[in-house]
Parts: sequence; C-alpha cells; structure tokens
Amino acid sequence: MCWLGNVQVAIDDFFKSKGLTYWHELSILARLTEEVGEFAEAVNHFYGEKQAPIGSPIPSEEEEMGDILFTLMCYANKHNVNLRECVLRSLDQLADEVKAKEGAVAKKFGVEEG
Ligand SMILES: [Mg+2]
Repeated sequence: MCWLGNVQVAIDDFFKSKGLTYWHELSILARLTEEVGEFAEAVNHFYGEKQAPIGSPIPSEEEEMGDILFTLMCYANKHNVNLRECVLRSLDQLADEVKAKEGAVAKKFGVEEG
C-alpha cells in the first residue's frame, strides 16, 4: 500500500482508538472549504500582493496542504473511498488527454507515432 493509503488507515485507526466518529458530510465540506481558503491565504501572502497584517501569523502552505488532505481523507474514510485509486484514476485521465493531444499534433504535422 502506498503512503496515501497508509495515512488513510492511520487516520481511521486514530479515530477508532479514540472512539471518535467522522463529522457530518456537510461539516467536512465546510471544513475542507475553510482549509482551502487558508491555503489560498498562505499562497496569496507568499506570491500575491496582499500583505499579512502586522503581528498576524502567516499561514504555512505546508500546514494548510496537510489540513486539506486530512479533511479530505476523513470524508473518504467515512465513505470507504480509497483515495489512492482516485488519484491514480485522475493520473490516468491526464495521461489519456496528453496522449490524445500528442496524437493530434503528430497527425497535424504528419509525424508517425512511435
Ligand atoms: Mg488550516
């Protein structure tokens, strides 16, 4: 099992060992949205023109990415979704799109695919 699956299992084991239950779907979605907003704030402070108010803590990109993944994994665990399979399916889709574009370009310029 890859790291993604291991982390999902670790989160699930933690919840079970502490007697915790996953939050309601809408609560998870709200939290995920909040975390994406915090990530956007971190990116904006680092790359954008918005400066953090003096004395205000600047959110860390790494911390917010972790919060996003954690929250998404909670949703996935609640619904027995294997995120590793989801991500690999997304990668396959991208690979198919790239291959189709490469084929279209090769056809346009009369290049044989190898
Ligand atoms: Mg956060």
